[in-house]
Amino acid sequence: MGPKRAELLDKNLGIRTYHDLLYHFPTHYVDRTTIRRIVDFQGADMPSVQVRGRFVTFNVQGEGAKTRLTGLFSDGSGVMEVVWFQRIKFLREHYHTNTEYVVFGKPTQFNGRWSMVHPEVDAPGAPGAQEGFRGVYPLTEQLRNRGFSSKTFSTAVTTILSGMTVLSETLPQHIIARHNLLGIRDALVNIHTPSSPQMLERARMRLKFEELFYLQLDIQRYARRRSSTTQGLYFPRIGKFFNTFYSDFLPFPLTGAQKRVIKEIRADMATGRQMNRLLQGDVGSGKTLVALLTMLIALDNGTQACLMAPTEILATQHFETISKMVAPMGVNVKLLTGSTRRKAREEIDTQLTDGSLHILIGTHAVIEDRVRFRNLGFIVIDEQHRFGVAQRARLWTKNTTPPHVLVMTATPIPRTLAMTVYGDLDVSVIDELPPGRKPVQTLLRYDEERFATYQGIGRQLRKGRQVYIVYPLIKENEKLDLRSLEEGYENICDTFRDYRVAYLHGKMRPEEKDYQMQLFATHQADILVSTTVIEVGVNVPNATTMVIENSERFGLSQLHQLRGRVGRGGEQSYCILMTKRKIAKDTRKRLELMTATTDGFEIAEADMQMRGPGDIEGTMQSGIPFDLHIANLATDGQIVQLARDTACAVLDADPSLAAPENSLLVRQLALLSSRLKDWSRIS
Ligand code: ADP
Ligand code: MG
Repeated sequence: MGPKRAELLDKNLGIRTYHDLLYHFPTHYVDRTTIRRIVDFQGADMPSVQVRGRFVTFNVQGEGAKTRLTGLFSDGSGVMEVVWFQRIKFLREHYHTNTEYVVFGKPTQFNGRWSMVHPEVDAPGAPGAQEGFRGVYPLTEQLRNRGFSSKTFSTAVTTILSGMTVLSETLPQHIIARHNLLGIRDALVNIHTPSSPQMLERARMRLKFEELFYLQLDIQRYARRRSSTTQGLYFPRIGKFFNTFYSDFLPFPLTGAQKRVIKEIRADMATGRQMNRLLQGDVGSGKTLVALLTMLIALDNGTQACLMAPTEILATQHFETISKMVAPMGVNVKLLTGSTRRKAREEIDTQLTDGSLHILIGTHAVIEDRVRFRNLGFIVIDEQHRFGVAQRARLWTKNTTPPHVLVMTATPIPRTLAMTVYGDLDVSVIDELPPGRKPVQTLLRYDEERFATYQGIGRQLRKGRQVYIVYPLIKENEKLDLRSLEEGYENICDTFRDYRVAYLHGKMRPEEKDYQMQLFATHQADILVSTTVIEVGVNVPNATTMVIENSERFGLSQLHQLRGRVGRGGEQSYCILMTKRKIAKDTRKRLELMTATTDGFEIAEADMQMRGPGDIEGTMQSGIPFDLHIANLATDGQIVQLARDTACAVLDADPSLAAPENSLLVRQLALLSSRLKDWSRIS
């Protein structure tokens, strides 16, 4: 390419080697099998097309930076303008009138005349023109201005590939044969310059499979190695803590799903291996009780337990529920958060080290290095979407033998994503809600129908029920959002003068937040006007109505979480999604789905389809060690499954990958992990 262009490629796209270039794939493809006619152009958003004809005239206009070159191009059916803003001198010398060219670009219409800006221009029959399916590559503005085009890439790639007599295969032959995959050379050739749509599909399949396969192989190898080498705590006993609580203090009979999940966890803790389990259960399915009962098993086996929640509000709530339930049994429970006073902290430290503190509940503060346990046997992580492999691994150092770990989440994670983000965990699912729950009724209302919403609120308040009113608060929009929150609050206070209104947002000091939350939790306030700080976990069963303002600004999973704050008691509950009338089609689809279903899995799946996996509540940060290059967890579920099954089969047959036919796998994994973040390392 020459040193100048090479440097540009490096600077703009990080492409340095042949490998980088070969793996810089097109984002989509254009059909260059057909020639279009200018008379047939129509519509505001035409795709790129190619036209065959001649330049009638060339014209240079403007001066200095504003110079542009316009060519009038005719194909016999009509004329269009072809415009360049860069490299004018060069182009002026290279393109001629009365010579036939194939021009390829996106036609746009202005004042009744069609034009193309910076199209690709080829002699008919030249490589590039009319060659079938052509890749369109991601480019930067700078590269484009310096004359790089999609053609530059496909030409470079074709040159490299035809010059490479050996191109090492990156998957073992037995896997290629079993799944009838393309070889690496065919795959690369066809991903860049597909010979047909069918070959393009096969090339994609091969490359996606490879990417997902090595990811799964890495995860599975890590999980297996961990479970075979990591010593775990052995909890054989069910003793007085569990039994007394179960027989005397259980507030209600467990649901079948709760019982099953507790059994699974109990069996796990009695194997002598360390438990790493994910507990999925929709909002309101009763995960807290499962956490408590399993923590009591840890206590019965002479160890301490710890429960970590994502927010101070939630930690406080857990502390209150749990300490109330177990206080009569003499279980010592303490709360530790960022705002715990020094004196209380010191007491916690002492009791943690002398072992008299049984259960510690708190925020991230509980896993700080300075917090030392005497004998921590079990850690429960509640509602942490961002708790990835590395963070989990840090917990293990909290005890000489790593404690058992249970991660609980109500954000249903689509299967494919779970297989990847939490691919190294065993999974338990609570698929049943406590009896007597009525599904929340969800309504979509426009801002001008606010009066009806207020009437509904009034009816609930007169029945003695409580109401949440939620406002968005988003960083980019913080000032504006805070203002509308304040205005909303004043408005509500005005409208419902006979009722008490609490007010809560994330910017408040922790004590103030606690106080406001307490007002609502203890029914000293009837209405809570708040931002999404109440999104996860908050449990006030008497609250039966939630109004979500500007609901169009929330993601599906977030709306589902919010809605989960109501419908927690036996009363019929309502969720009202307020929105302006003018919203994008996708947004409307999202909101309508909310009114149609309360099934968290369905919603999570739809959310991922609509937004792509990268946006799902930060799940990406939580565990995937690198950006996927070509595979897409939202749409490639079947390939994820195939990749996982294949990886498992390989490891079942050859756990240490010692067989000669697997030596390539070991090499590839090493190569990948040197290039990727080393996620499996335990720090
Ligand atoms: P989540 O799974 O969303 O964390 P919680 O643990 O907060 O749910 O439980 C939601 C509500 O259901 C709480 O009020 C809790 O007391 C109640 N609950 C939990 N288990 C049962 C049960 N087996 N029967 C009846 N109510 C239950
Ligand atoms: Mg919860």
